[in-house]
Amino acid sequence: MAYDRNNIFAKILRSEIPCNKVYEDQYALAFYDISPAAPVHILVIPKGEFTAFSDFMAKASSELILGFHKAITKVIQELKLETSGYRLVSNCGEDAGQTVAHLHFHILAGESLGGLVGQ
Ligand code: AMP
Repeated sequence: MAYDRNNIFAKILRSEIPCNKVYEDQYALAFYDISPAAPVHILVIPKGEFTAFSDFMAKASSELILGFHKAITKVIQELKLETSGYRLVSNCGEDAGQTVAHLHFHILAGESLGGLVGQ
């Protein structure tokens, strides 16, 4: 799948549309999901053109891969989610229900999140 530069997260990265920012560094941007599925629902996206996880791992530099994962960790630490727990998930492709074709990890927390699939 080719990367679409007009996807909504690309527009957020270019500041063409707003987001409720949680964290930003040279590798990643984190912001609150507009339609939260849990009391805490944050999206973390890498700075670059990657449709999903496999595309990111195939094309991103080692520095970006590490920086992106460290950014996710910083968000989890800054919001003190480790104590009560959190879910980290990335929907990739049609069967997973991915709706925005720019790699993103969901950080879900703030309540017991239940089963993983099919709710
Ligand atoms: P996925 O379905 O895994 O591709 O996740 C896409 C997520 O992006 C959904 O949870 C949406 O609620 C969220 N979303 C879509 N548009 C926006 C936006 N403008 N700001 C924040 N979150 C968004």
